Amino acid sequence: MLPVLFAQAEACGYPKPLAQGQGFKVKTENRKQKTVNPVILQDDRKPREHCGIFGIYGHPEAARLTYFGLYALQHRGQESCGIVTGDGQRVSQHRGLGLVPEVFNKDILERLPGHLGIGHVRYSTTGSTVLINAQPFLVQHGGQSIAIAHNGTLTNAREIRCRLEDAGSIFQSTMDTEIIVHLMARHRGANVVESLINALEHVKGSYSLVLATADKVIAARDPYGFRPLCLGQLNGSWLATSETCALDLVQADYWREVEPGEIVVMDAGGLHSHKPFAPAPPKHCIFEFIYFARPDSQIFGQSVYLVRKRLGAALAREHPLKGDLVMPFPDSGTYAALGYAAATGIPFEMGVIRNHYVGRTFIQPTQTMRDFSVRVKLNPVREILKGQRVIVIEDSIIRGTTTRSRVKSLREAGAKEVSMLVSCPPHRFPCFYGIDFSQKGELIAAQQEIDQIRDFLGLDYLGYLSLDGMVAATQMDHDNFCLSCFSGDYPVLLEGDFSKTCFEEDLCAPGPLEGQPVVCERE
Ligand code: SF4
Repeated sequence: MLPVLFAQAEACGYPKPLAQGQGFKVKTENRKQKTVNPVILQDDRKPREHCGIFGIYGHPEAARLTYFGLYALQHRGQESCGIVTGDGQRVSQHRGLGLVPEVFNKDILERLPGHLGIGHVRYSTTGSTVLINAQPFLVQHGGQSIAIAHNGTLTNAREIRCRLEDAGSIFQSTMDTEIIVHLMARHRGANVVESLINALEHVKGSYSLVLATADKVIAARDPYGFRPLCLGQLNGSWLATSETCALDLVQADYWREVEPGEIVVMDAGGLHSHKPFAPAPPKHCIFEFIYFARPDSQIFGQSVYLVRKRLGAALAREHPLKGDLVMPFPDSGTYAALGYAAATGIPFEMGVIRNHYVGRTFIQPTQTMRDFSVRVKLNPVREILKGQRVIVIEDSIIRGTTTRSRVKSLREAGAKEVSMLVSCPPHRFPCFYGIDFSQKGELIAAQQEIDQIRDFLGLDYLGYLSLDGMVAATQMDHDNFCLSCFSGDYPVLLEGDFSKTCFEEDLCAPGPLEGQPVVCERE
């Protein structure tokens, strides 16, 4: 499988990984070649991001509502968070490392005055988990403050950063997001909106953004619409946020999605829409439906809860197993399990009980923490499992190590048979658009066939939902989605080497680079 994967990844423009200790060359015209480390499937250094964004304009308690909005979006990032507010004249900022209730309190919120605000919760992707990389990222330019919060990954960030550094730019952070404000300064327009449009013409990849100045909030979404971004209304104020669950918490009404490629400006003149970019085919991240978004959210025009139930029903059609009970490993797979149970008539049970005071293992940043979390997070209910044929519904198997431990715990609790059905196809390819796939342990399905994975996990049966079955469950057309991590077909190619810490290394050799592409070639 590996040679096939590598060949396909390479065909998609991603450099082929080399043997341990080797690298590939980053080459540019007028620039000497230099060796950098490989990034794909051999270590954990690849683009990744989970973030949530929130913005509000025209509310006297903008800071407090932004705080609640971030609270609702906490599942999208737990490493750091921040809020910037504006009162028409000045902006105020607070950000910190940790969860929203750890970083903010009543006194801090009272020091964030204004009728507008933006906020961000972050899981680190590019750049280490340090305060300078917390967002919103605030800069001063042309006599005004500009704050930016980003969900996504810019696939040509490295090339642009090298070019800007060669031209003399000094960066404060090691995040891809910072290049947007540098580009705004470099390609300045008549106003901040024009500057943003000019900047976004240069970046590629995935971005859902909210920006704030002292007197306006701007929401922007990349032309493919990889990440969700929606608009809401609350008593005459306007809101923009990653998921509708944040609107629900502040009792705002959902209005509509920010369309792919759209820039929405909220200011004293109301709400203005700009569509400056050529239309592109939508490529919404289907994995938001499967795993990432909250089930009580509506994204891409669909209820996440209902899509997940339909994924379970589709699994029942494709894998009609005999069993005594259907169960999830909560919260993964819970709603697909409900759908499977409803479709088959097999009782739904909570065969394991979750400790809700432990974070989701998928987003823990280190192997050590992940293993620890497996042990403390789920406790099997022996009275439910003993002697039973158990069908576990999972939303995905990324590395497999956590799943293996969980299956073992079911057997130890007395389960007679353990089968597993996954509500999406095998993840065989990395994601370049903002989801964390593959650390050191890699994507298990990139390396093993399904029967090998079944044996590794200690299962009696393992079945995945087909690609067509997954897409059909969304009740949307194939063409709407990015399916790259399943198909290896990438709508936007990664340009050059990229890793979480690539901007913390000196990989940008001096030399004039304006207008010249960076290419990667194998050594
Ligand atoms: S590659 Fe997968 S996880 Fe990444 S954006 Fe596409 S569908 Fe989503």
